[in-house]
Amino acid sequence: MRVFFRVINSILLTAALLAAGFCAYYVYSYMTFPADRYHAEISATEAETERLRGETVAAREETEQRLDFLRADIRNNGAEAVALADSIDEMKAAQAEKDVKLQEAQEEAALLRDMPGAVENARRQYGLKIRELEDKILSGESEVRICYWTLDDGPTFITKDFLDALDEMGEHVHVTFFTANGANESKDEEEMLRREMMSGHSVQNHTFSHDYWEGGQVYISLDSFREQVEKQDEWLYQVTGFHPGIFRFPGGAAWGGDLLPGAKDLLREMGYEWADWNCNLYDAGQELPTAALEEYRAITQASEEKIAVILGHDWNMQTLIAMKGAIPVLQEKGYVFLPLFPESAMMGFNATR
Ligand SMILES: [Zn+2]
Repeated sequence: MRVFFRVINSILLTAALLAAGFCAYYVYSYMTFPADRYHAEISATEAETERLRGETVAAREETEQRLDFLRADIRNNGAEAVALADSIDEMKAAQAEKDVKLQEAQEEAALLRDMPGAVENARRQYGLKIRELEDKILSGESEVRICYWTLDDGPTFITKDFLDALDEMGEHVHVTFFTANGANESKDEEEMLRREMMSGHSVQNHTFSHDYWEGGQVYISLDSFREQVEKQDEWLYQVTGFHPGIFRFPGGAAWGGDLLPGAKDLLREMGYEWADWNCNLYDAGQELPTAALEEYRAITQASEEKIAVILGHDWNMQTLIAMKGAIPVLQEKGYVFLPLFPESAMMGFNATR
């Protein structure tokens, strides 16, 4: 038991000593606390806080400035965007207008592109219609008579008079002009060609130079012959917008064919028909006949043909007078005066007079 109390006593004593020591340390600590350091730490903390507050304010100000700038920027950009949108609308409207104009222009161009084909087609259909009539006349089915009055070597100084005379005879009288650029001199050839075309006459090819005597350009070689036909074709196309389809040999097909074998085949290769005549006014020889004689020849010779092809010349004044007299007489006999088409039955035979 004594031992037990001794142990308890020792423990209590130790605890009392420890408590006394702790109290002594606490009092000592309190007595020796460095107030200076404590105040310095407070000041430092306050300064740090102040610095942070300053930084925060500065940051906020900067942020607000940026926001202001951005707001202004957005306003400016907005104004620009509105202006841009307006100009885009204007551009779109202008583009739409251009698109419409382009569409119209394209349609017009397509029409123009198709026009020569359409005209050529219409011309061919008309030619085929007349061919039908010719076939009926030749077979005796029709009592109608046709006269193709042809005039060679123009345009000349009197082509205008021929055209005026034909106009006076009414819209149903048409002739065929076998034209040659170099056959005669005249001031207003191109105007005459256009007028012939516009009046519904047939405008055809009679070589470019008309230089057809032996050694001349027309029959000197097949190459030269081709060039003569092509140059006249091109000239007529440039002036009238149409390619002719019928060729007349200067001097006649017999003359040309004898001088230049192969010329007829070459013409076919070039897409041409050729036409001579079965009535001849003989108005281009050494001795020129009177108008009365020419008129007599026109009426008597044509009357022998169901389909007459009369040869006359575009430079002979007597021929003009004879034509004015002969046409009404032949009309009385049932002849219609038509322009010559490549589809005609009168293509490809040598002159019979
Ligand atoms: Zn001629």
